[in-house]
Amino acid sequence: MKILIADDDQISRMITKAAVEQSGHDCIVAVDGDSAWQLFQEHSPEAVVTDLMMPGLNGLDLCRAIRAAGKDRYTYVILVTSHGSRKDVLAGMEAGADDYVTKPLDPFSLHIRLLAAQRITSLHADLARYRSALTEQARTDPLTKVHNRLKLSEDLGELHDGSHGYCLAMVDVDNFKSYNDIYGHQAGDAALVAIADTLASQVRATDAVYRFGGEEFLLLLREQSAATADLVMERVRSAVHDLTIEHSGDPDGVLTISAGIAASPGGHPAGTEHLLREADLALYAAKAAGRNRVAMADSFHAE
Ligand code: GH3
Ligand code: MG
Ligand code: MG
Repeated sequence: MKILIADDDQISRMITKAAVEQSGHDCIVAVDGDSAWQLFQEHSPEAVVTDLMMPGLNGLDLCRAIRAAGKDRYTYVILVTSHGSRKDVLAGMEAGADDYVTKPLDPFSLHIRLLAAQRITSLHADLARYRSALTEQARTDPLTKVHNRLKLSEDLGELHDGSHGYCLAMVDVDNFKSYNDIYGHQAGDAALVAIADTLASQVRATDAVYRFGGEEFLLLLREQSAATADLVMERVRSAVHDLTIEHSGDPDGVLTISAGIAASPGGHPAGTEHLLREADLALYAAKAAGRNRVAMADSFHAE
């Protein structure tokens, strides 16, 4: 582990450093509380062994600062108290310390506490990894691996107060019911995956693709005008067509998509619910006009 030692007394500092290194850990040494806080922020140590009484920021303040800062990762804090007074120990534990040792420091006492520190910090690291994996999984569509509706509502919520222009494009696979009827549900699933991959590969990293429903996808195109979004969606439509997934029940002979676009002009954030409705109406118009095409919402014409 990387361990930060904070002590204003030079002799104590050397003793603690020797004990920590003897236990096989790397040391960062601070001569007072303020520089300990600096070094903590710079180096993100797994554990801190700190003196209680120091000029400036004392051991309790340091504990509180570390606990207030720690969201994603856990730092194990061991307090070194001069006299082992119950009052000091209690105050230290209440300030966020995990354990304490008394002066004069016994290297064995510190060694066994660092074993616990290692176990606890590695458990916390596991938890943080699981938490972030779960957060990701809860926002991902299991079949196509694009974002799901939960992620969409979060992202749209954040767009509300943004002043930049963006476009929403509602995409629906053409004649997909008959595709399932002819080729089977499993082939239908595989086609959805291929189409989702194509959508994702055709947009920029700052854009996003969501599975909106069964064979419907929503694209969030950031910093796009209606005119440029129209070009993007035409490219997307053509890329799906060029996958040439055979579909004998479709007039084109291959699987195609239709799309409807609604644009939010910058500075005038239209309600996202309203935009979604507009995009859906435009999609309906694209379907009515013959499918395998892109349509712009009435109220947001390109140009
Ligand atoms: P249109 O061109 O008007 O969109 O016609 P359509 O046949 O695509 O429209 P409809 O909404 O009638 O059919 C959608 C079909 O999509 C019906 C459903 O079986 C299929 N579907 C929805 N979700 C999935 C899925 O996860 N996997 C598969 N294989 N099929 C799905
Ligand atoms: Mg549909
Ligand atoms: Mg469809």
